[in-house]
Amino acid sequence: MRKNIVAGNWKMNTTLEEGVELANEINGLLKGKKANCDVVICVPFTHLVAVKGVIDEGVMGLGAENCSEHEKGAYTGEVSAAMVKSTGADHVILGHSERRQYFGENNEQLLAKTKLALANGLTPIFCVGEVLEERENGSFNEVVKGQVEALFSLEPADFAKIIIAYEPVWAIGTGKTATAEQAQDMHAHIRSVIAEKYGKELADNTSILYGGSCKPTNAKELFAKPDVDGGLIGGAALKADSFMGIIEAFD
Ligand code: PEP
Repeated sequence: MRKNIVAGNWKMNTTLEEGVELANEINGLLKGKKANCDVVICVPFTHLVAVKGVIDEGVMGLGAENCSEHEKGAYTGEVSAAMVKSTGADHVILGHSERRQYFGENNEQLLAKTKLALANGLTPIFCVGEVLEERENGSFNEVVKGQVEALFSLEPADFAKIIIAYEPVWAIGTGKTATAEQAQDMHAHIRSVIAEKYGKELADNTSILYGGSCKPTNAKELFAKPDVDGGLIGGAALKADSFMGIIEAFD
């Protein structure tokens, strides 16, 4: 069966020292209690090695927030999937709306990144989600379907390794959360799109996380929905107590 997962996305926040301290604090709190879900923190590239050093084996996973669509070579400033893997990380966020919006990442690039992540043993946390205009003009189901379908050239065994994160762009960092019903409807839609292509069993085994202004106060209601398998957390992942409050929504 699919896993429940709470993943943090630190974005471009924390210095190395602050990041190591935060990871250490979360690790300590998680060691003191058995979480009822998998926990992953996705941190800036610069922090991966040091953060790996303060995480206890089996307590939580570690991810990057992006990787290159190229394998290696003359791509100054880029970080490859193999490099991410070599830090000890096991996950990578791909297709976050900020990457799509500010860095123009398209479906073709995201498929290339996903293939390289998988080839290097990283679990992609693949983000999809509509912008406000698409929510308001009613095209949101089609838009998200298209974003998921961008991965449909993958073999079933590869698609099965992916975690999907539904993040309505209008809810990210805005304090405006999708209602639990809106999240459930979209997650069920995504699952049916996956089932049509890869079959019900694979779709039922795919973890689909919700992201967008998720907090300790709304996590329980969101995670109680049958197709919401946890969250991808931005702002609230930057404080150990609020991140733990969201993890505890699974208690
Ligand atoms: C995110 O950017 O992945 C996110 C969910 O951000 P926030 O929780 O701050 O809305």
